[in-house]
Amino acid sequence: MRGRASFRSTELNRQSSDEPEEARRRQLIEVTIDSLAEVGYVGSTLAQIAQRAGVSPGLVAHYFDDKDGLLEATFRTLARGIGDRMREALRRAGTPRGRVQAVIDTNLAPEEFDQRTGTAWLAFWGQVLHVRGLKRVQTVYQRRMLSNLRHALKRLLPADEARSLAAMIAAMIDGVWLRAALSRWQEADSESARAMLTAFVDSRLRKPTPADEEPPFAGSGTGRISARAGRARSFKTVNPATGEVLAEIAVDGPAEVAAAVAKAAAAQKEWASLPGVARGRILRRAADILRARNAELAELETRDTGKPIQETSAVDVISGADCLEYYAGLAATLAGEHLDLGPQAFGYTRREPLGVVAGIGAWNYPLQIACWKSAPALACGNAMIFKPAELTPLTAIKLRDAFAEAGLPDGVFQVVQGMADTGRLLTAHPGIRKISLTGEVGTGRAVMADCAASLKQVTLELGGKSPLIVFDDAVLDNAVGGALLGNFYSAGEVCSNGTRVFVHRAIKAAFLERLAARVSAMRIGDPLDPATQVGALISEDHMTKVLTYIARGKSEGARLVTGGHRVTRGDLANGFFVAPTVFDECHDDMAIVREEIFGPVMSVLEFEDEEEVVARANATEFGLAAGVFTNDLTRAHRVIARLQAGTCWINHYNVTPIELPFGGVKLSGLGRENGRAAIEHYTQLKSVYVAMGNVESPY
Ligand code: NDP
Repeated sequence: MRGRASFRSTELNRQSSDEPEEARRRQLIEVTIDSLAEVGYVGSTLAQIAQRAGVSPGLVAHYFDDKDGLLEATFRTLARGIGDRMREALRRAGTPRGRVQAVIDTNLAPEEFDQRTGTAWLAFWGQVLHVRGLKRVQTVYQRRMLSNLRHALKRLLPADEARSLAAMIAAMIDGVWLRAALSRWQEADSESARAMLTAFVDSRLRKPTPADEEPPFAGSGTGRISARAGRARSFKTVNPATGEVLAEIAVDGPAEVAAAVAKAAAAQKEWASLPGVARGRILRRAADILRARNAELAELETRDTGKPIQETSAVDVISGADCLEYYAGLAATLAGEHLDLGPQAFGYTRREPLGVVAGIGAWNYPLQIACWKSAPALACGNAMIFKPAELTPLTAIKLRDAFAEAGLPDGVFQVVQGMADTGRLLTAHPGIRKISLTGEVGTGRAVMADCAASLKQVTLELGGKSPLIVFDDAVLDNAVGGALLGNFYSAGEVCSNGTRVFVHRAIKAAFLERLAARVSAMRIGDPLDPATQVGALISEDHMTKVLTYIARGKSEGARLVTGGHRVTRGDLANGFFVAPTVFDECHDDMAIVREEIFGPVMSVLEFEDEEEVVARANATEFGLAAGVFTNDLTRAHRVIARLQAGTCWINHYNVTPIELPFGGVKLSGLGRENGRAAIEHYTQLKSVYVAMGNVESPY
């Protein structure tokens, strides 16, 4: 909020007339901060500010219209300043606790206790309730602080506790600062304010939870979900379509993770010594078991994720089985190479397993993710410890059981359960040589930073905001079908979704008409009903996040074509359903176009030529996927070659055959899953030099 002035009115007078307008605007804003600090809100008139700046009131009005416009721009500059500093501090923070501290430290930094900007800020607080523009800025500022706190705390506490602690911390930050400001900085300075907040957060995070004091409740008929003596904490997994508790699961802590690593290390040696064909045979049997249990597993996945049974029974289990089968075949083909080094020597490489590796999964494709990580890992002779997301812990256990039934030696594939803390035990353990994570960009950063300590390898499958480009010669129904697949499958909870749909101006009206008709006909309902096409979102928190983005889309001026609301008809009121939503008239700088929503929200953007659309498609920090619809195949390949994305489709979207490597560029990730490429990420090369002559030594 309260950044130090860098311009003064005398400097304004030195500006030559051809200097950029933006610099002039900024200078007038700095003068306004001076004015607010000295004469307050009421005394700061346009005329008075113009006089201070040494310019005519007409020039100030030219830039800001009126006093309200000038003050809103000033408030926005202060809020943006603190927002930028907070983002930078969050980027540097390595842990969730560090991110909470970053929010505290930025908001209560010494410059925020500075008389000048502090007083200006106070002047705004006083007017927020009366001036709509100021209210908007203040709401964004407060939401940002709260959501940064919540996001970090969710890694440390159950969601509802994280929410309430985040609200408390935000209230305390504002309260401590406000009291200090009102006492003219007598009551607290920056250092004591930060110390107070830090002590409060530490005490809350150390506070024993009820689960610490009670013995854990045992679960649900899913095998290993049972009470274990002495276990400290547990969590519940809930059906997001109904609110029904499916199981209560014990959290694995340091002792359990250490035991799992020791067991895996012992088992891995025996497993790696088997010929590849024997390892492949076991994977192949596990694939058969998954296929035979498709109905049962699909139903469990649907209950745990809220996804329609028509998807889980056709894709989730079957694609996992395909993956096991594919790597079962590759297991026998792993090989190094022979290198001719002349008559006196040759070299060869051995492709060897890494040892014990770990997989950490997201909640959108729980079983498929567990298969995508474990199949190549095991095929290469590694042992894997897998942690599913806390929201979807059930089917990974079923996969472990299928492996055991197929003959996998005990300990080669183990499942540990818990939240981010359990994940961190894996990233920190020196006995684990690699982490493969599917999750958010922030989690990817944290995992990579933690892995640095023991120099673990990482594969990171992270978020995206992918472009789907529809040229004017595309087969329209195919393009609409691709956009539907790329936005509404799994209620939009798919990392590679093409949520920025760029449609050529010449066909946009026709595209939207067909799209709206098909979206309106989609069936939202009970995920276990085979006719249902759109199920529930994963959690209430996530639904709130998606609805907040929809509200932002509306307030930023996008035109709602269809959807845009929660669905609470009949029994659906107990779950977290959101109607498939399409926005038209979107612009590249809108939040719904820039940020990953991970829900059923499509943004349609208009373009006119190829050069323009390629530049706009690439103007994102993400780079997971991209799609192009056109009948001109030369153009298709030309455009695909220029798109910054790891996974691309021409005239289709979101199909991911196991044979093709999958992964992202830029902030969307590192490394590849699937295909032969994954073998590189689960093995290491040993180079061997073999001499065939005598050793010539100068000594
Ligand atoms: P998160 O990043 O929140 O969590 C992913 C996993 O990491 C969870 O198991 C989580 O535990 C765990 N975790 C969180 N923090 C840490 C930490 N510091 N150290 C170790 N483990 C940690 O992702 P979501 O589960 O919310 O999944 C949605 C995200 O995943 C989206 O951004 C989406 O784009 C991305 N994704 C990417 C895919 C890809 O292939 N590129 C595919 C699917 C999803 P917990 O159980 O507590 O949540």
